[in-house]
Amino acid sequence: MSPEPSLSFVPRACLGLTGQAKYHRWLQYKMQAPVPNPLAGPEDSTPANPDANLLAILEAEPTWTPTKEQAKLSYLGDADARDVYLGKHTCPLCYGSYVVEIEYVGETTGKRVISTLPCTCRRHQLYFSVIDPMIPKMYKDIDLSTLKPMEFPDLLSVERHAEIIEAVKARKKDSFIFIGPPRVGKTCLMMALLREAGRRWAHATWLKGGTPWPAVWYYHASTLLREHVAYVTQGTANPETAEPPGVTVAAIKSAVRNGHTPSLFLDDLHKVGPTPFQLETLHDLIDTMHENGGQIVVSTNEDQPWFQERWGKTNADAIWGRILEGDAHRVRFEDRQPSSAAVA
Ligand SMILES: [Zn+2]
Repeated sequence: MSPEPSLSFVPRACLGLTGQAKYHRWLQYKMQAPVPNPLAGPEDSTPANPDANLLAILEAEPTWTPTKEQAKLSYLGDADARDVYLGKHTCPLCYGSYVVEIEYVGETTGKRVISTLPCTCRRHQLYFSVIDPMIPKMYKDIDLSTLKPMEFPDLLSVERHAEIIEAVKARKKDSFIFIGPPRVGKTCLMMALLREAGRRWAHATWLKGGTPWPAVWYYHASTLLREHVAYVTQGTANPETAEPPGVTVAAIKSAVRNGHTPSLFLDDLHKVGPTPFQLETLHDLIDTMHENGGQIVVSTNEDQPWFQERWGKTNADAIWGRILEGDAHRVRFEDRQPSSAAVA
């Protein structure tokens, strides 16, 4: 005998919540009818669907409040998240089930409902298993929010470095070319942006559910292009065993088809060999990123005129032009002349 239920599983979207809640996929939705008991008399019979009045309950209540603080359910510190990922301890929110249940209470009716949503530890797991391995060990602790300006003697003043960090922080989804001599913090800033892009990727994948689809890549530019050369060379000799490069035009396109905004981070652009095949491949990759609204972050020790000499003016201008088209910025890691802007 069940009176009208006071506890039921409902999609959080039904609670009139806005924002990300609407993206969550609901794992349970208890609406199935119970099997009637043939021995019970008509006065005994349970209603055909104990949750039939659930929608009425939901509609009667304008304000649903979670009984626990949201913050306690959605926040897991970075260090803690890494420990959970490494299996040092179980997730304290979902105990390894990847699902958390949140109980809501109706403010006027006093009814209680339970909704389930994916646990944030799954998002951290995506980040640590896919993005974190791309970040070299010495940059593991770099974070855009805590990045401190430094003095690079004879190269960059602490004021200018602070200015660059602030400018990049304000545009963290944009594309950049970082130009400057070695050891002025270019890669460091790139890693900070890589983490940001990685977090956005993990968050989007977590919300969508399903198989994680690669959409964020970090490479030494020359390594990536050498992989392309090797693939074509081996592919001709032995197509069965040729290892496809880490980032291809097709990979970028399928990331986009899977609902991601792709991000490509290329270190040391000046080390790319100036062969027509490599430059054409580089141009195609950048072109595809650009066409799909992706983020491209490039670091180089040399400025555009140097590339015009090495790659030829047409190639250099085509590739630089494609990177810098749209919202991209050219950031010079040098103390600026009084007249120029912080970030062009
Ligand atoms: Zn969890």
